[in-house]
Amino acid sequence: MCEQVIPNPPNIIAIDGPAASGKSTIGNLIANRLDYICLDTGIMYRAVACKALREGIDVFDAEKISALSERIKIDIRHASEEDGRQFDVLIDGADHTWHIRSPEVNQVVSEVSVYPRVRGAMTELQREIAKNGRIVMIGRDIGTVVLPDADLKIYLEASVEVRAQRRYVEELGRGKKVCLVDIEESLRHRDEIDSGRSIAPLRAADDAVIVNSDDMTVYEVVEHVMRIIAQR
Ligand code: C5P
Repeated sequence: MCEQVIPNPPNIIAIDGPAASGKSTIGNLIANRLDYICLDTGIMYRAVACKALREGIDVFDAEKISALSERIKIDIRHASEEDGRQFDVLIDGADHTWHIRSPEVNQVVSEVSVYPRVRGAMTELQREIAKNGRIVMIGRDIGTVVLPDADLKIYLEASVEVRAQRRYVEELGRGKKVCLVDIEESLRHRDEIDSGRSIAPLRAADDAVIVNSDDMTVYEVVEHVMRIIAQR
């Protein structure tokens, strides 16, 4: 494959979309092609949820969860192990790369993401990281709230059935025992909370380019997004 060099790619690229729409896979591949950094902001909300579960904090206790989000230290580093991880996720110095992807965290992450102070703390960190540019930032509210001046906004969507099927195959590939119906149910649950919250709900920015990947392979989505980038 001959990869075209793009002269002046957009400096800040926001990729938003629902759970398991492929944002992370696509975002990382795009960032690699452009030699940009990539930040998947879902990791940060997952880290808060994971830490709350480990500390036995009730996820419906807004005060305690908010305070936790303001003191938590999240580090994302190069992968230290070859176990399928793209990078290490350290929470207060401890490796929680896989814990943040557990069904238990999936179950509560959208609840903790609703609290205004949690969003405020995460948004501040995200803007700080984006300051130097050359970044692909992935999430739910990047184009609408975190970086409304992003140079390019992509909204990646796919039907819940296709997303569940993809996640199912992914988890099976990791040797997990999973149930397709449970995965679909969990995605619907998160979609509902993420789209229905009053602060920074999941939605496409008015100036976002909407990409529906239902009938596309990962390769096709990356090529499609790279063409959009080249046209900017
Ligand atoms: O993208 P991912 O599925 O890892 O995100 C986990 C959860 O974090 C989402 O379901 C959502 O509740 C929350 N999130 C958010 N805003 C973002 C990124 C993620 O509310 N920018």
